[in-house]
Amino acid sequence: MGVTTANGRFEGAMGLPEALVRRLRAGELWHAVLLVGEPSQAERAARWLAQALLCEAPRSDAPCGSCRSCAQFSAGSHPDFWASGEEGLKAGDVEALQAWLATKGHGPRKVYALHGADEMTPVAANRLLKTLEEPAPGTYAILTAKSRQSVLSTLRSRSFTCLLSASPPFLSTDPSSISVVARAASAEDPSFAGFMERVIEWTETWLRGGATPWEMAASWQSIAKDVPAEGGLLLLAEWLRELMRVRAGGQAERFANWQEAARRIAPILEVEQYAACVQAVMEARLRLQSHVALLLNLEQMCVRLREVTTSW
Ligand SMILES: [Zn+2]
Repeated sequence: MGVTTANGRFEGAMGLPEALVRRLRAGELWHAVLLVGEPSQAERAARWLAQALLCEAPRSDAPCGSCRSCAQFSAGSHPDFWASGEEGLKAGDVEALQAWLATKGHGPRKVYALHGADEMTPVAANRLLKTLEEPAPGTYAILTAKSRQSVLSTLRSRSFTCLLSASPPFLSTDPSSISVVARAASAEDPSFAGFMERVIEWTETWLRGGATPWEMAASWQSIAKDVPAEGGLLLLAEWLRELMRVRAGGQAERFANWQEAARRIAPILEVEQYAACVQAVMEARLRLQSHVALLLNLEQMCVRLREVTTSW
């Protein structure tokens, strides 16, 4: 069992559909979920989900990584979590699971994860059906599979299928941003002098709802007028990634000089929202290569950013 770091928490959430995360936050998660994806990603997502369900913190912060339940989970000793081996179900697993389900839980919820639901024998699947059909209150089942089609239809029909998206490339640091961030942080490059402070102020004004998308676009054009357009957007995307990292419980790493600002701003959005914002900025950066006028491009970006902050 791996240790759940803030980063692990954030990676686990990635790839899970928004609808599922929203239901989780609203306390309305389905009792049985089938996660379909590459096995190690599905296993990570299943662990993240289980930890979030068992976490004692408010739902918007779960999994918090620091409560008693999260500590037990990370240590691999949570009494209300049961998982089959990552390599899939073995003979006797369903019986072992049913025996565990029959015991009284330590907390209000019990979560179990069954990996390799697409390789389950019909006998094992049939044994499991009743358990899935009549879930005890507060009991959640997480099944994982490589493909949905190969899961027996009886299991499929009793669980809610979620396709995990492949890890989107915009979530990892763009190598071309490294020099831009260094230039902004060193303050030796005159064209970047004070730029980061202006980016922080711009982000805060936008996130606190103080400007329309058109005002935001015009304001961005004005604060970034001395830096190359692409460099400015790369820096903005990296700054938003940093906020996402801090929101997920991590430290500001690439913008360590602005740790305080990152801590102040990060709680405004959810991790998933920051991911959508990074994507909007990276799309605007791609559009720079087409012939879209700069201000129009920035307006498109800001309309999307405003949507992300208001429609979740
Ligand atoms: Zn917790």
